[in-house]
Amino acid sequence: MAQPIWQREHGPDIVSEATTDDNGFWIARAYSRSHPTAVVRTPKPLGSRHSACAKADALARRMFVHVCEVPGCRNWALVPPEMVRPRPAADVRVVKLT
Ligand SMILES: [Zn+2]
Repeated sequence: MAQPIWQREHGPDIVSEATTDDNGFWIARAYSRSHPTAVVRTPKPLGSRHSACAKADALARRMFVHVCEVPGCRNWALVPPEMVRPRPAADVRVVKLT
Protein backbone atom coordinates (compact mmCIF):
# COMPACT_ATOMS: atom_id res chain seq x y z
CA MET A 1 0.00 0.00 0.00
CA ALA A 2 1.20 3.46 -0.83
CA GLN A 3 2.40 5.57 2.03
CA PRO A 4 -0.02 8.30 3.07
CA ILE A 5 1.06 11.83 2.27
CA TRP A 6 -0.39 14.71 4.25
CA GLN A 7 0.30 18.21 3.00
CA ARG A 8 -0.34 21.75 4.07
CA GLU A 9 0.11 24.64 1.70
CA HIS A 10 1.54 27.85 3.10
CA GLY A 11 0.60 30.26 0.35
CA PRO A 12 1.20 29.34 -3.29
CA ASP A 13 4.80 28.16 -2.98
CA ILE A 14 5.60 26.57 0.37
CA VAL A 15 4.48 23.06 1.28
CA SER A 16 4.90 21.20 4.54
CA GLU A 17 4.47 17.47 4.36
CA ALA A 18 4.10 14.47 6.64
CA THR A 19 4.52 10.95 5.36
CA THR A 20 5.64 7.57 6.68
CA ASP A 21 8.85 5.66 6.17
CA ASP A 22 9.09 1.91 5.49
CA ASN A 23 8.75 1.19 9.20
CA GLY A 24 5.59 3.21 9.65
CA PHE A 25 7.22 6.11 11.45
CA TRP A 26 6.30 9.64 10.45
CA ILE A 27 8.67 11.96 8.64
CA ALA A 28 8.35 15.75 8.58
CA ARG A 29 9.57 17.69 5.57
CA ALA A 30 9.06 20.92 3.71
CA TYR A 31 9.87 22.34 0.31
CA SER A 32 8.91 25.10 -2.06
CA ARG A 33 7.09 24.39 -5.30
CA SER A 34 9.52 26.64 -7.16
CA HIS A 35 12.47 24.48 -6.00
CA PRO A 36 10.91 21.03 -5.48
CA THR A 37 14.25 19.23 -5.50
CA ALA A 38 15.47 21.11 -2.41
CA VAL A 39 13.70 19.34 0.44
CA VAL A 40 14.34 19.82 4.13
CA ARG A 41 13.43 17.22 6.74
CA THR A 42 13.85 16.63 10.43
CA PRO A 43 16.53 14.17 11.56
CA LYS A 44 14.40 11.65 13.43
CA PRO A 45 11.28 9.71 12.51
CA LEU A 46 8.31 10.65 14.65
CA GLY A 47 5.73 8.52 16.38
CA SER A 48 2.59 10.32 15.30
CA ARG A 49 1.22 12.24 12.39
CA HIS A 50 0.34 15.07 14.73
CA SER A 51 3.94 15.60 15.78
CA ALA A 52 5.17 15.21 12.19
CA CYS A 53 2.74 17.91 11.03
CA ALA A 54 3.85 20.25 13.81
CA LYS A 55 7.51 19.71 12.92
CA ALA A 56 6.85 20.11 9.20
CA ASP A 57 5.10 23.42 9.87
CA ALA A 58 8.03 24.54 11.99
CA LEU A 59 10.41 23.55 9.20
CA ALA A 60 8.44 25.54 6.65
CA ARG A 61 8.44 28.62 8.86
CA ARG A 62 12.12 28.32 9.70
CA MET A 63 13.55 27.45 6.30
CA PHE A 64 11.42 29.75 4.21
CA VAL A 65 11.25 32.62 6.69
CA HIS A 66 7.51 32.27 6.69
CA VAL A 67 4.86 33.48 9.11
CA CYS A 68 1.68 31.44 9.20
CA GLU A 69 -1.46 33.43 8.71
CA VAL A 70 -5.01 32.85 7.64
CA PRO A 71 -6.08 32.59 4.83
CA GLY A 72 -2.71 32.11 3.11
CA CYS A 73 -2.01 28.91 5.00
CA ARG A 74 -4.43 26.08 4.36
CA ASN A 75 -5.37 23.16 6.56
CA TRP A 76 -3.58 19.86 6.58
CA ALA A 77 -5.09 17.46 4.07
CA LEU A 78 -4.48 13.89 3.00
CA VAL A 79 -3.39 13.81 -0.63
CA PRO A 80 -5.62 11.35 -2.51
CA PRO A 81 -3.53 8.48 -3.93
CA GLU A 82 -4.47 9.40 -7.50
CA MET A 83 -3.13 12.91 -6.91
CA VAL A 84 0.29 11.75 -5.73
CA ARG A 85 2.68 12.58 -8.52
CA PRO A 86 6.14 11.14 -8.95
CA ARG A 87 8.55 13.69 -7.61
CA PRO A 88 11.96 14.52 -8.97
CA ALA A 89 14.95 13.15 -7.12
CA ALA A 90 15.44 15.51 -4.24
CA ASP A 91 18.49 16.80 -2.48
CA VAL A 92 17.25 16.25 1.06
CA ARG A 93 18.82 18.42 3.72
CA VAL A 94 18.38 17.39 7.33
CA VAL A 95 17.56 20.28 9.64
CA LYS A 96 17.46 19.93 13.40
CA LEU A 97 14.91 22.22 14.99
CA THR A 98 15.84 23.55 18.37
ZN1 LIG B 1 2.08 28.94 7.09
